[in-house]
Amino acid sequence: MTNLPVVPHWIGGKEVTPEGTRTAPVFDPALGEETKRVVLAEQTDVDVAVKSAHEAYRSWRDVSLAKRTSVIFKFRELLDSRKGELAELITAEHGKVLDDALGEISRGQEVVEYACGITAHLRGHFSEQISTGFDIHSVNQPVGVAAIISPFNFPAMVPMWFFPIAIAAGNAVVLKPSEKDPSAAIWIAKLWQEAGLPDGVFTVLNGDKVAVDGLLTHPQVDAISFVGSTPIARYVYETGTAHGKRVQALGGAKNHMLVLPDADLDLVADSAINAGFGSAGERCMAISVVVAVEPVADELIEKITERMGTLRVGDGRRGCDMGPLVTQAHRDKVAGYIDVAIEDGADVVVDGRGIEVDGEAGGFWLGPTLIDKVPTSSRVYTEEIFGPVLSIVRVASFDEGVDLINNGAFGNGTAVFTNDGGAARRFQREIEVGMIGVNVPIPVPIASYSFGGWKESLFGDTKAHGAEGVRFFTRQKAITTRWLDPSHGGINLGFPQND
Ligand code: NAD
Repeated sequence: MTNLPVVPHWIGGKEVTPEGTRTAPVFDPALGEETKRVVLAEQTDVDVAVKSAHEAYRSWRDVSLAKRTSVIFKFRELLDSRKGELAELITAEHGKVLDDALGEISRGQEVVEYACGITAHLRGHFSEQISTGFDIHSVNQPVGVAAIISPFNFPAMVPMWFFPIAIAAGNAVVLKPSEKDPSAAIWIAKLWQEAGLPDGVFTVLNGDKVAVDGLLTHPQVDAISFVGSTPIARYVYETGTAHGKRVQALGGAKNHMLVLPDADLDLVADSAINAGFGSAGERCMAISVVVAVEPVADELIEKITERMGTLRVGDGRRGCDMGPLVTQAHRDKVAGYIDVAIEDGADVVVDGRGIEVDGEAGGFWLGPTLIDKVPTSSRVYTEEIFGPVLSIVRVASFDEGVDLINNGAFGNGTAVFTNDGGAARRFQREIEVGMIGVNVPIPVPIASYSFGGWKESLFGDTKAHGAEGVRFFTRQKAITTRWLDPSHGGINLGFPQND
């Protein structure tokens, strides 16, 4: 046993650390040190957490929209005033620089703000006199207990894509955060309590596959929102739906930026740096491949390389541009792709291994890396790397670039850089990707639109937040009404027809 602090579960409005439970290490990636342990749920813990959530749901669903909104509004105010604390927690466990941690919180906060308008979002429809003397209306009711299973790379924002709307719509939530950076979830749970959310409506269940499997198969879990890598997303979708759950499972990505010869190459170079190396490339909307339509590649590479030389890599608490990777194992896996690139005949223009950093020697460091002439058969091109490795693929034409992107397995985000409106219009119509930027490298939709990709980047038919998020966390009822008048027609065993 160690004397490190243990991150507990949050069940029924309090911290819960079961006796003799399994735990996993939590690292500070910039120090390279294990600083905490996190509890890992067993099936019995899943049962306790879901029971508590289910009981809370039964009364929360009857709380008026006015009261629910006031709790969410209060949560928003607390979050806004105390987000610095949350950002520090994120940096200490994920490694991203403080500014970036604040950025993810503000994008999550947008969804909280969207959820404050739940009274409008939950509106149903009413049609009068659909048959003589009959009216019909629809209502949107909560689904029940919603489980959210989230990845390490956005410990605050990704859960916030889902839980504000789920809670506002009258559901109870069980959040299973990544075991790599679990503290943000507990911090958020305490904030909900301070905001006046009844105990049990927001539960945090820490754990690994055992917790996930327990949630996917539990009879009282009604909906699953998953975000993570594609193989696990597929597994979650198949297992959850086989157990009768409503599932949305967002998977991995390999995002391309198509650069046309008429583009502003300074804007492109800045964008490639920001979208390729922000958060050390550990973003599902990171740009991983720059597809350069010749003859721009050489000039663009020069501009990108120049800018890479100015980046300060180091501890995210020291005002650096880019932090470490999340674990040593992930750092080594990402660095391994540089060897693959060399073996496959690509040109490593900038090698991020052995970079000088403003941080402790033991941190999980890998500097920004640029690889040119990446063969599209190479694993560097076909696999999601999820680190600060930017590939350049050279193509001869717009059409070749579009075909390349459309032939990829993923369809999360993409961008085109051009000053030609016609080309941009064709790109957005023809490209088979869910989120598209035109001269915008990280086109994450605002909260009132929905976030999600195509193909291997999303399993299920519903994206996160916006109108699709509201639909995911609600069930519809259609109610046909007739108030008796003296003309009611007596017995008729035929199928009801409108007249
Ligand atoms: P991951 O798939 O390893 O883990 C995601 C969640 O699944 C975690 O909560 C984890 O505990 C759980 N999990 C891990 N292995 C499991 C197993 N065998 N069975 C059941 N559950 C399991 O993903 P990650 O490394 O935490 O996050 C990075 C991945 O998430 C990348 O692939 C990235 O593209 C993806 N991501 C996608 C989006 C999106 O919107 N599409 C957003 C953020 C991250």
